[in-house]
Amino acid sequence: MKEVYLDYAATTPVYPEVVKVVNRFMEKDYGNPGSLHDKGQQALKAISEARKRIALEIGCRPEEVIFTSGATEANNIALRCSGRKKILVSAIEHPSVMETAKNWAGKLVIIPVDENGFVDTGFIEKEADENSLVSVMHVNNIFGTIQDIDEIGKICRKKKALFHTDAVQSFGKVNFGNSFDLLSASAHKIGGPKGIGILVAKKNAKLDPWTYGGGQEFGLRSGTENVPGIMGFAKALEMQKKADWRKIERLRDKLIEGLEKLGSKINGSKDKRIWNNIHFSFPGRESEETVLALSLKGLYVSTGSACDSKKTEEYVLKAIGLKKDEIESGIRITLGWKTKEEHVDLLLKELRKILLG
Ligand code: PMP
Repeated sequence: MKEVYLDYAATTPVYPEVVKVVNRFMEKDYGNPGSLHDKGQQALKAISEARKRIALEIGCRPEEVIFTSGATEANNIALRCSGRKKILVSAIEHPSVMETAKNWAGKLVIIPVDENGFVDTGFIEKEADENSLVSVMHVNNIFGTIQDIDEIGKICRKKKALFHTDAVQSFGKVNFGNSFDLLSASAHKIGGPKGIGILVAKKNAKLDPWTYGGGQEFGLRSGTENVPGIMGFAKALEMQKKADWRKIERLRDKLIEGLEKLGSKINGSKDKRIWNNIHFSFPGRESEETVLALSLKGLYVSTGSACDSKKTEEYVLKAIGLKKDEIESGIRITLGWKTKEEHVDLLLKELRKILLG
């Protein structure tokens, strides 16, 4: 059976070019960047180059890029190491932000969102102050709405609050401007390996160390660097930037049109939506059953969020005002670099049978 993977927001197939680079830094160039000899220094040079390439894409300084084990860790560092105990998070954050805020904040403030998932910026302006950290994700991982983080960053600057954004679903895909203080991203969402991510920390964030030890990552995150992961991350970003995303956007629109014709409700913003995301509800058709029925046909989609817990989808979808049956029938389809028109046609054909049959 042919497999059609349509769950790119959960994770992505790794580019063959990335696999090659990762292998090279495991088989041949396996030195420790902390070693004085040539093998170590070559590894140090390689990760410094990778850091520079990633910084160039972001528009920050290389020393502001901290490699982590992924975005969950980056989000934890951002929220836990700034010394700011009043934490404002949007109601639709990923659990790696939401749970950290709940467990860590001295005072937790939830920023409300409207029916399309846009945060109430007036609320941030009212609540944020010089003792607070504000965390608002750039693109929502479930329904794909793109937040105006440039505007939010400017409000935070005016109020002297620190601004963190979880850019996992937008990194390498949508520009995020430069008005954030802290930003998280992850390689496995852009065709890179799992277990490697970044926290971008601007100088003014003044973070305390996350781990103590040999002083790697500018003293913030000690521990031998994940050299193959870092090199794979930089290569994935390069590949991601080359892809024809307008083609994917056209396929997304074809899917949305087809789904609407079947009578489903599309959730999230229609115009400010990431080009690879479709999220829909079809009341009366339980999402798990739809996912499993499609899986039997080799078509892989999602009920909402991979990391999962139905709990996440519930609080996020509730926050944008979805009704119980809309939440329970919610399906997320996310496209990527391997997606072809025939995949979309096949999915629509099978969905027609499952939803209307
Ligand atoms: N934030 C968002 C928005 C995500 O979608 C994810 C991955 N599901 C994460 C954070 C966690 O990233 P990682 O898997 O690298 O820990």
